Amino acid sequence: MEKRKVPLLDMRALHRPIRDEVLAAMARVVDSNAFILGEDVRQLEKSIAAYCHVAYAIGCGSGSDALLLAMMAAGIEPGDAVLTTPFTFFATAGSITLAGGTPVFVDIDPATYNMDPRALAETIRRTPKAKIVMPVHLYGGCADMDPILEIGRSRDCVTIEDGAQSIGAEYKGRRAQSMGDIGCLSFYPTKNLGAFGEGGMVLTQDEGLAQKLAALRVHGALKKYFHRWVGLNSRLDTLQAAILRVKLQYLDAETAGRQKNAERYRANLAGLPAGLPQAAPYQTRHIYNQFVIRVPERDKLKAYLDENGVGTDIYYPLSLHEQECFRELGYRAGDFPESEKAAREVLALPIHSALAEEDVDYVCAQIRAFYE
Ligand SMILES: *Cc1c(COP(=O)(O)O)cnc(C)c1O
Repeated sequence: MEKRKVPLLDMRALHRPIRDEVLAAMARVVDSNAFILGEDVRQLEKSIAAYCHVAYAIGCGSGSDALLLAMMAAGIEPGDAVLTTPFTFFATAGSITLAGGTPVFVDIDPATYNMDPRALAETIRRTPKAKIVMPVHLYGGCADMDPILEIGRSRDCVTIEDGAQSIGAEYKGRRAQSMGDIGCLSFYPTKNLGAFGEGGMVLTQDEGLAQKLAALRVHGALKKYFHRWVGLNSRLDTLQAAILRVKLQYLDAETAGRQKNAERYRANLAGLPAGLPQAAPYQTRHIYNQFVIRVPERDKLKAYLDENGVGTDIYYPLSLHEQECFRELGYRAGDFPESEKAAREVLALPIHSALAEEDVDYVCAQIRAFYE
């Protein structure tokens, strides 16, 4: 087979068709002179709120800041426990520590890579200081929100959805970010809706929380120079908002392209020993921020694909309870067997919408060749 290069993500190819439109939007911002919380931020907030089926959306500096702002708005106090999964990007748990809370980990369901509600029920029972439950919608799929919300409510916890990877994903017909008390988005360039730099957003149905979140991103001021809380300086740049408004128009096409590629992978890889993403045991709309296979011989397969021009990555190679910075939490290897097993076996394949069918077929042929 003729060699090809199939990078994990090809931003240049994704941006080529919208380049002129994006540059025109950027020029408009340059001419407007409103670089902080300008009209484009307000318009983007409106559009994203509508897209995610929530009442309020507040732009901020990054997805990590969105998590931090959400916990501050929820009134987190030193030592409060925040229950989340150890199999996620670092920011999920890092933001808990930064907010003064204590991450309390709950193992994942291996079918979905998301928080296992049965494990949550068990862990929350022995967590007297439980204050916030923070499920993650990993890879663009949704956590099992009905039981998670119910368990959280039974202990008067606030639920914060880390939806950094799941804009537009759905759980039983409800959009990610609209089910808990606060939802968090990231516009990091590798997300399905990516800026040309950093950006994030906090979403909520609650007017009071929305007001507090809007204040917290400007140093906690409800009125300029009058500070009700100690907040952050975390605003979404007008320039990024203008770019994101252009890209939002193409988000459904991007997601549809990813879903189509996922179907092609499934058809093509069926019968091989590589484990394909499983359908969740509940109805979802998966947006495939990542297409992740599972293979016990993961590192060998990754090296083989690298050699043959196929870009892959590992999200994530070390469970958060085993990270050096969390040693004081007292967890040990073996505490979360499903997360640890996933960290050894997962491999993300190229899935973005600019892939040609031949690219997907090439990746599959290389995986088949590896097993032969
Ligand atoms: C990307 C990501 C974040 C952080 O978003 P940034 O914009 O990079 O700060 C948080 N949680 C998850 C699950 C993510 O994938």
